[in-house]
Amino acid sequence: MFPISPLDVVGDDLKVTLPDGEVVRFAHLDYAASAPCVRAAAGAVQDLLPRYGSVHRGTGVRSQASTLAYELARDVVAEFTGAGPGDCVVFTRNTTDALNLLARALPPGTTTVVFDGEHHANLLPWPNPVRLPAPSSPDEAVEALDRALRQLTGPAVLTVTGASNVTGEVWPVRRLADVAHSYGVRVIVDAAQLAPHHPVSLHELGADYLAFSGHKLYAPFGAGVLAGRADWLDAAPPYLAGGGASASVGDRPGELTWATGPARHEGGTPNLLGAVALAAVCEALTGADRTALHDHEQALLTRLRDGLRDVPGATEVSLFGPEQPRVGIVSIAFDGSDPAEVARRLARDHGIGVRAGQFCAHPLVRRLTRSASAGECGTATGLLRASFGLGSTTDEVDRLLAALRS
Ligand code: PMP
Repeated sequence: MFPISPLDVVGDDLKVTLPDGEVVRFAHLDYAASAPCVRAAAGAVQDLLPRYGSVHRGTGVRSQASTLAYELARDVVAEFTGAGPGDCVVFTRNTTDALNLLARALPPGTTTVVFDGEHHANLLPWPNPVRLPAPSSPDEAVEALDRALRQLTGPAVLTVTGASNVTGEVWPVRRLADVAHSYGVRVIVDAAQLAPHHPVSLHELGADYLAFSGHKLYAPFGAGVLAGRADWLDAAPPYLAGGGASASVGDRPGELTWATGPARHEGGTPNLLGAVALAAVCEALTGADRTALHDHEQALLTRLRDGLRDVPGATEVSLFGPEQPRVGIVSIAFDGSDPAEVARRLARDHGIGVRAGQFCAHPLVRRLTRSASAGECGTATGLLRASFGLGSTTDEVDRLLAALRS
């Protein structure tokens, strides 16, 4: 027996019945879409449920306990992201929500520089985007950014992913941030795929803002995070006007004072259980041996990538080339097979869950597949993606490879 760990996956013994009647353990290889829940998150929710009450709204013991738990969760996330004085941690619904919030808080007239390698959540919310082609190497990314910023006049921000949801490649965030900061340009990092695999310190990444989602960080209870500099957030109109976001309201329309700090953008009753679950995972990851977790994941990645060389017609896709560091995500192009059909058969005949399509990153997937068609998220065009993390095993990787070969 292994000792119980807060990072053990809940439900990793899910069984499925195959068409021939065989019952097998479901192999979940779709962590990049939504990771399974870990004990830390489930336990935090279980602990709080008997005391659950309103946040910031009551004097009773349930409300007091809930308010305390919510604000402690914020402190834990601040520590996880290295947010300090002058920063703000806002609980959101997910990464999409966090980036949309920030997009509406940019000072008027701000240009947003963004590469075409982004997930739509980090491509579409920005009011004045300058889109740079997806680069072929980290050096090319840095040079393209430098060129773009040299030509820009007026205020600008850079927004970039920490790790690609399509290729798993880690983007050169620190180098891009150094260039951006040399022009006085702030940096936003979409850490949806980075945070589950790497420590995400604002300071070390060189980021001014970080966004990520609980459901990809083993805490599937509907919370996300925007962490970063408070000044623009405090100056912006509240994301959701209503109770909590308002400090005082007069008798006439427009007679009101908005709150500052996180409350300004957390109008309405917050998602207490989501925030507490997310913070519990942040705490568990902070206390874990991240090197050991990283090594295990990299061993699985190497096994999968090596094994794919023996799968006829399958090619792993990458933007920056095979040597670029990656998180546990691999996307595969097939010569002559429809990835959606392959994914369906993996599920039906082998009990393996992966994802097929364009992963809400149409420009990048088009670039990677050099296909002219632009299907919807999750349609039959595009690639097949396998992704993993905590609790993933060599057996799952081997089953995927064997199934693909067959
Ligand atoms: N950015 C990246 C890199 C992602 O992978 C995703 C989710 N696939 C998102 C943003 C959006 O996350 P959410 O759906 O949780 O808002």
